[in-house]
Amino acid sequence: MFKKVINFSPPSIGEEEIKEVNKTIRSGWLTMGPKTLEFEGEFAAACNSRNAVAVNSCTSALFLSLLASGVKPGDEVITTPFTFAATANVIEHLGAKPVFIDISMGDFNIDSNLIIKKITKKTKAIIPVHYGGQTADMRVINDIAKKYGLKVIEDAAHAVGSYYENGLPVGDTKNLVCFSFYVTKIITTGEGGMVATNNFSVTNHLRRLRLHGMDKLAWQRYSKLNSWRYDIPELGYKMNMTDLNAALGLAQLKRLNGFIKNRTLIAKRYDEGLSNNKKIILPFKKKRGRLNFHLYPILVPKRDLVIEKLAKIGIMTSVHFIPLYRMSYYKNKYKYNLKDFPVCESVYKRIISLPIYPQLKKEDQDYIINNLLQIID
Ligand SMILES: *Cc1c(COP(=O)(O)O)cnc(C)c1O
Repeated sequence: MFKKVINFSPPSIGEEEIKEVNKTIRSGWLTMGPKTLEFEGEFAAACNSRNAVAVNSCTSALFLSLLASGVKPGDEVITTPFTFAATANVIEHLGAKPVFIDISMGDFNIDSNLIIKKITKKTKAIIPVHYGGQTADMRVINDIAKKYGLKVIEDAAHAVGSYYENGLPVGDTKNLVCFSFYVTKIITTGEGGMVATNNFSVTNHLRRLRLHGMDKLAWQRYSKLNSWRYDIPELGYKMNMTDLNAALGLAQLKRLNGFIKNRTLIAKRYDEGLSNNKKIILPFKKKRGRLNFHLYPILVPKRDLVIEKLAKIGIMTSVHFIPLYRMSYYKNKYKYNLKDFPVCESVYKRIISLPIYPQLKKEDQDYIINNLLQIID
């Protein structure tokens, strides 16, 4: 048995969360209703966006955003391979083709210099991913999108509470910005997601698409007499959030700034503790906007061995990400050439994500730093 186990990314759930969920259970309204509306309002306010639409995952948020942006079978969507499968899977679900572009060494985000070369007549949209909470090069990406008439859907699964280079919070944009409240993310609802945007016209469409395509929402139907009538103007899906999840989210959202403060301190301690070791490459040297430090990824030699040695002494780590062009489904379908992704390949072979979460104890972090320095000397 391990003397000690330091988990990779446990959620931080306190009495406030339990109280909120408890209240919602006692209220008798469990599915999408007043708490979901309240969470949408609070979340939109927190990221300074005009609208927010709550759904059951970031995957659903991305899927519905592509659908509402008019992405159709045969279209191409430009994105990064250095992401979780959800980003590209939703493109496939719509019968469109993900076009992967290499990442840049400075931030592990899509290399904005390589985008224009990959635009064809079929290109419909770009999905940048804000890797680890560090925003992608949105100034350039938005310019390209405007020039070529492309939609931009931001995968902000990591970026709750981050800021763009222009000083605005992630979500304060006309793009469709998709957040995740999965259990390992910055704030959690167990499972859940949100689309935030300043684009008002698309919001009602998203609201309809997330609930079967119905033109009235459940709580509107039940709150009035004789309001049993509804129509299905178009085919929708069952991807709504529930009030149980929203209650958890409301309590988590109140703690967001505290979470980011702690994460920032932990990242600084890693920077200080590891910077003297020349074999370790530290992340986020060039900061673009405010980071929430969702991840703390470092580059090390003999990565697989380092992960194994850390695990043996109870330190759990992770790899973000195995590039999607290496996944069998994508590899078999599209036959990529690894030489098209030199930066992503070089990063993937060396990268490791260290534990970072608000309640990580100083003594545990010291244990991680000291052991890491010993393993890589
Ligand atoms: C977690 C994650 C998702 C998917 O989020 P879910 O809420 O689990 O659907 C999408 N993209 C990235 C980059 C992620 O890390």
